[in-house]
Order: sequence, then C-alpha cells, then structure tokens
Amino acid sequence: MQLEPLAPSSTWQQELRSSLSTPAQLLQAGLISPEEACDSRFLAVIRENQVRITPHTASLIDRENPACPIRLQSVPSAQRETDPELPAWIEELSNEIYGQPSPWRDDAIGDLTRLEAPRLTHRYGNRALLHVSDTCALWCRFCFRKSHLNDREESLYVGKFDEALSYITRTPEISELVLTGGDPLSLGDEPLGRLLQKLDEIPHLKNVRIHSRMLVNLPSRVTASLIETLATPRRYHLSLSNHFNHPRELAPPNLESLRRVRKAGITLLNQSVLLRGVNDRTETLVELFQGLYQAGVIPFWLHHPDWTPATFGFRVSIRRGLNLYQSLFGQLSGPAVPQYVLDLPGGLGKAPLNDSRVQRLITRNQDGFEASVYEIPRPSTREGQEDQRVRYLDLAPSIESTQSSIT
Ligand code: SF4
Repeated sequence: MQLEPLAPSSTWQQELRSSLSTPAQLLQAGLISPEEACDSRFLAVIRENQVRITPHTASLIDRENPACPIRLQSVPSAQRETDPELPAWIEELSNEIYGQPSPWRDDAIGDLTRLEAPRLTHRYGNRALLHVSDTCALWCRFCFRKSHLNDREESLYVGKFDEALSYITRTPEISELVLTGGDPLSLGDEPLGRLLQKLDEIPHLKNVRIHSRMLVNLPSRVTASLIETLATPRRYHLSLSNHFNHPRELAPPNLESLRRVRKAGITLLNQSVLLRGVNDRTETLVELFQGLYQAGVIPFWLHHPDWTPATFGFRVSIRRGLNLYQSLFGQLSGPAVPQYVLDLPGGLGKAPLNDSRVQRLITRNQDGFEASVYEIPRPSTREGQEDQRVRYLDLAPSIESTQSSIT
C-alpha cells in the first residue's frame, strides 16, 4: 500500500505552505531579533532541527513576552536547544547506568529497538504503533522524536505499509493500533480514509487511536471532508489523542475544531508533556486539564520529558514533577487528572511515576544541574515477562538556575 503525500488543494494545505521556516521569515514576523537571525549558534540549531510555524500558531505568540509558552514550544532557541557539557561526576553516573557518558539518545524511547516491520513498533503485547507520516504541521522544539524527524535517512519512516499491515494481521494479540508519526493528519483525507478502511479488514483490531497535534497548530485541518473520513462507521472504536500543553493553546479556533470532531462521535483524548517554563506551574496545569475536560477531552497522560538530544532546556526534574503532580489533586475533577508517566529509555515501556515503589536513591545539586538516580519498576510489556526494577538517571537544570517555580 502506498500513501501519497499531500495534494496541494485545500485551505489547510495553503495555510501549511504559508508557514514560517527561515530566519528571514521569523525575523519579519517579529519572532526573533536581527542579532539572532545571524547568530551562528542559532543557525546551527535550525540546521540540525528544521523549523516550521503555522500562521495560526504564530498569531498566538505574544511578541512582547520572551517567555510566552507558545513561543517557547515553537520558536527555535540556541539557549534551550544546545545541550550542555556534562561535568565528570554526571558522566560517571551516566556511564554506570547507561554505559555511555551522557543519557541523550537519538532513539529516545526505543521506537527503532522495537521495530517489528517497516514503520511498525510493537512494544506492548496488545498494542502497536504505526509511524504513518514523517511530517507535522509545526516542528515542536521539545519533540521527543525530533532526532527521527530530522534524520536524513528517515530510518523510522522508510518502507511501504503492506509489511506493517501484514504483521498486524498475523499477530492477533494486537487489539489496539496507535497511528503516529510525525502527525497522521498530515496525510490527505483520501489516503487517510484508505488506511482506516484497510485497518477495518483486520478482525482483531478493536481500537485505533490517532495521535495528532494538528488541532493545536492547524485547526483548519478539521474540514468537513476530514470529519466525514473519521466518522465513517467501522468495526473498531476510533479515538483522536491530541497534544495540548498549555491553556493558551485552547484558543477559539482550536476549541471549535475539538467541538466538531466530538460532535462527529469521535472520542477525544489528550497527552501533554511537562515542559520547563511552559507548563511547570500548578495553576497552568490545572487550567489546562480543566479546560480540556470542559471541552470534552480526557487528559490521560502527562509525560516526563524523554532523553532526546537538543531538548535539555525543557527538562524538569522528577522530584519537581511529582511535587507539581501531587498539587493537582483536589483542584481537578477526577477524569481531568492524567497519569504522570515516564517512557523508560531503550523501549522498556511506560512507568507511572506516582507509584510508591518508585524510589529516589540519590540526588546531587551541583554545577547548575540537579541529578538524581531512581529505581523504577518496569511495567510488564509482554505476557510472561517478569516485573523488574530499572535504574534511571534524571537530570535537569537546577532550580536555582531558572525562573520556573512551583506555586
Ligand atoms: S507534532 Fe508531535 S511529532 Fe510533530 S514535532 Fe510536534 S511533538 Fe513532535
């Protein structure tokens, strides 16, 4: 099966083509300074990790506020995206735990480690991921797959879909398929509809979940034709898992796109990432999760950041993350509280961090870093697999060196 790239016909595709992607465009839009536009560190950052900001998201950025949460997530920054040199004591810790002097890894959560067919990651017994597209509406600066999305060989995205579909068909334990990417809604409606139809021919698939950030960055993507494609009756249950990180992303066009998808009978979910300076405050998370819940969206995950290169400036320590997480209880309706989870490096699966068995063994606050070693129960991802505990090195800029605060 071959899925064609976008056909340049409709409004959302025109909007996508008008996105900002060069220093000159960012400068003209008032998003970077003239000094930044020719700063060699800045230019190196965008050479390594491409830039695209949709006109919709650019319109939400507060030009007067350098700490605007929409800006931090979308406008490149040499400061945030240049990972620091690690002092020797952290390199030793990392070597001890990961066998390498730094915890960063290109395949942060083991998408490639668990690749069972082209584009198909099978990490858990009953669930699999299909990497449908290598394109997104906006290249998020914190993205945990940014190494894959900027990989010139596109290792995660090569190959036709037939082998992946045939693997799913001959693996009856897979009852749920997550369509991910990139962003699956970057496909046109016709190829997306064909894929959804093909999946309907696999009798043991009970759930299909589309993971997308389009309704955040390109709400015009929700056209009548997309609604028709999603709402076509199928045997499996279809849900759309969004990725809102800040209450300012719940702007009127975004809420309207959510409303239209919900009206079509599609279950709406949300996963967020805990990001330094963006949403690492109690009141921000409360407003975000309550706002999503009121829009008919169930927030199911709050992710701890992964060990993706060029994202160190977004990291929050687990210690702070847990304090924040615990401060949410009592302020949110029950269904509006997500699980705070960590994807264990190397494809070992997701572990809930609010688990009394999670143990912090040591913490050192030195040289501008907060480093902790945790012992974390590894979830059983396959039947018959023994539960075991793994060690995890957590590292973030020390709290004293930042403006962020827990309220
Ligand atoms: S939309 Fe998702 S996959 Fe794409 S860049 Fe943003 S976080 Fe990464």
